Amino acid sequence: MKDENLIEIYQIRDNLWAVDEIRKTTMYIYEGQEKVLLLDTGFGLVDLHALVHRLCPGKEIVVVNSHGHGDHNSGNSQFEKVYVGRFDEPTSHSHMTPEQKERMLASFFRGNPRTESFDPSRWNPGPAPMVMPLRDGDVIDLGGIRLEVLETPGHSLGSICLFDRDNGYLFTGDLMLTWQVWGQLTCSTTLKDYGMTLDRLAALEPQVTEVFPAHGRQDNPHRWPIYHLPPRVLSVYAEGTRRILEGKETGVPFHDGPEGLVVYFDIGGMVYDPARLGVE
Ligand SMILES: [Zn+2]
Ligand SMILES: [Zn+2]
Repeated sequence: MKDENLIEIYQIRDNLWAVDEIRKTTMYIYEGQEKVLLLDTGFGLVDLHALVHRLCPGKEIVVVNSHGHGDHNSGNSQFEKVYVGRFDEPTSHSHMTPEQKERMLASFFRGNPRTESFDPSRWNPGPAPMVMPLRDGDVIDLGGIRLEVLETPGHSLGSICLFDRDNGYLFTGDLMLTWQVWGQLTCSTTLKDYGMTLDRLAALEPQVTEVFPAHGRQDNPHRWPIYHLPPRVLSVYAEGTRRILEGKETGVPFHDGPEGLVVYFDIGGMVYDPARLGVE
């Protein structure tokens, strides 16, 4: 398997890299003085140990999942131990069913020029033998870099953000993107709870210098690099979601995924289930 067709590496800082896998999902590698963080394991199409060790030789790898979805945790089987938000921990032990695997192949692999020479029968997504739950206030200490765990339920119940308060870096997983996020899933919270998470993140905005999302597209309307969202995305999402909850905005039917209504914001947008607003 030729790894170079499957991933693209963007060096963001001396010790921070975004790794785009098949132009569909973004992982991060963040090197401290003692340990190195691998945030998400993507589809697991490449040897992630080799990749991290090539960039950060000799460092212990700490693997964290932003949440328990297959486009972010399928490479977990390459590692002994993975950390995940405690409410996504229960599903993080399961193997993909053949149906789930087929759905992933259909939505991410087929017709993707990046996976043309990739043989799906060699794809072995799976869980790590040990899944450790993270909770609000936990700190991942890499040596000189402290990442605070924020429990941020919304897109999934167990979604977490990692916040490097000293540098202002906020890693947000799938909570906000340059296009509409999926808050309509059966594993999503009510929109009210998603909104409470977004309010909490918006309150951090003055301390945030960079937002690093778990998906990015080269062709986004703002021409931002795939790993970048400006801090104001935090209040854009919080305000946009509040307007839906207050009935000031009504979505239109969403057709690009599981059923829901969608409202587009100045940056991105929100897909939600109108039966699961969580407000009376
Ligand atoms: Zn997701
Ligand atoms: Zn995702």
